[in-house]
Amino acid sequence: MTDQPLLSVSDLSVSYGPVQAVREASLEVRAGEIVALLGANGAGKSSTMWALVGMAPRTGGRIVLDGRDVTGAAPEDVVRAGIAIVPEGRRVFANLTVRDNIRLGGVARRAGDPHGPLQRDEVGDLFPLLAERWDQVAGGLSGGQQQQLAIARALAARPRLVLLDEPSLGLSPRLVGEVFELMAELRRRAITLLVVEQNVQRSLAIADRAYVLQGGRIVLSGDAAEVRDSEATEAAFLGGR
Ligand code: ATP
Repeated sequence: MTDQPLLSVSDLSVSYGPVQAVREASLEVRAGEIVALLGANGAGKSSTMWALVGMAPRTGGRIVLDGRDVTGAAPEDVVRAGIAIVPEGRRVFANLTVRDNIRLGGVARRAGDPHGPLQRDEVGDLFPLLAERWDQVAGGLSGGQQQQLAIARALAARPRLVLLDEPSLGLSPRLVGEVFELMAELRRRAITLLVVEQNVQRSLAIADRAYVLQGGRIVLSGDAAEVRDSEATEAAFLGGR
């Protein structure tokens, strides 16, 4: 056991030309946690997440993964260092089979990874329907199954940390429930998650800790229960369910 956080972000800033999307945000994720990154539309959640993998225009700050400074590293190097991202909108390769989507995710495995590619039985353990549809093209899967596939593809990299950008967006209420249940299950398997969500109450129900962004700044952080009960949370979103 070590007290060193798995991810440590200090004073991160992101600007798109004159638009400053993230302002000196600092956050930590410890191994085995679910950390929620919350905030209203435009608060800077996605920009923070994409900056962690070197894909948003970072103008300041430092990003350390497992003791290794990855600030300014190329996206492929950050991914190989152990951060996998599940983009918003379930972007799977629609013309490829479930198997090939997962195989592509595995390309990002760390050098020397002892576990080898993610196998069908491992996928089936978490996502039985994906294992059943192993040789079917991803475009024929339902929205919920595509979201599962996007997550399975990220897990195929055998990451240390998975970033999820709005995993419940656009799903039916039943599927939203399934996605949150899946996140809780991943946590039980000691998979570390940083989750960007607009579904505040549900996120706080499964998260260990949360950060609230407003206008690009972190205005509140703490244990999920503290954040849920804080008046500042409501002020930052107004009416989030
Ligand atoms: P949402 O939930 O709507 O995605 P968010 O909290 O994820 O919101 P960001 O998408 O990070 O917020 O956006 C933060 C700010 O940066 C917003 O003002 C947004 O308009 C701006 N922004 C985001 N991406 C770009 C871009 N590629 N070019 C210019 N401005 C951008």
